[in-house]
Amino acid sequence: MTEVQGDVSGYRERLVKFVESHSITLNYSDKIAPAKGLSQGGKITLLSGMQPAEEFSTLVHEIAHEMLHRGDRRTLTTKQVRETEAEAVAFVVCQSVGFQTGTTSADYIQLWHGDANLLRESLEAVQQTAAVILGGIAPEERECMGNVGFRFKNPDCRVHQ
Ligand SMILES: [Zn+2]
Repeated sequence: MTEVQGDVSGYRERLVKFVESHSITLNYSDKIAPAKGLSQGGKITLLSGMQPAEEFSTLVHEIAHEMLHRGDRRTLTTKQVRETEAEAVAFVVCQSVGFQTGTTSADYIQLWHGDANLLRESLEAVQQTAAVILGGIAPEERECMGNVGFRFKNPDCRVHQ
C-alpha cells in the first residue's frame, strides 16, 4: 500500500483547529491498532506515531464520518457506503491541498468493494463535506501556496493570476 506523502505543515494545524471548532475531541492512542483512526461521535481517536501526511489523511477520513454519518445517514447507509464516502472525502481533500496519496484511498475503497456506481450516489455528500473541510483549512490569503484547490477560496491570490 502506497503511503500518503507531502508537506502537511500548516494544514495539520488548521485541521486540528477545525476539529476543535466543531466540538470534536481529538485523542491519540496506540491501543486502537490495527485501526488508524476511530470516530465515536464527538470524539476522534488517532493511532499514535503515524507519519504526518498519513495522520492528516486519516483525520480527514474520521472527520468525514463525524460530519456525514452521525445523523440519519448512519442508519440509512451501509458500512460499505460509509467507508467509501469517508475515504473519498479524504482523497479529495488530500489531492486538493497537494498531498500525494498514491493508491492508498483507491486500495481502501476497493477493500470495501466501493466502486464508481456507489461513489456516484454519494457524490453530493462527498463533495459538500470535502468543500466544508477545505474551506475550514484554507490558508490565509497571504499564506497562499498556489495549490489549485484554493483557487476559488483565494480569488485575489497572485499565484493564480
Ligand atoms: Zn472509516
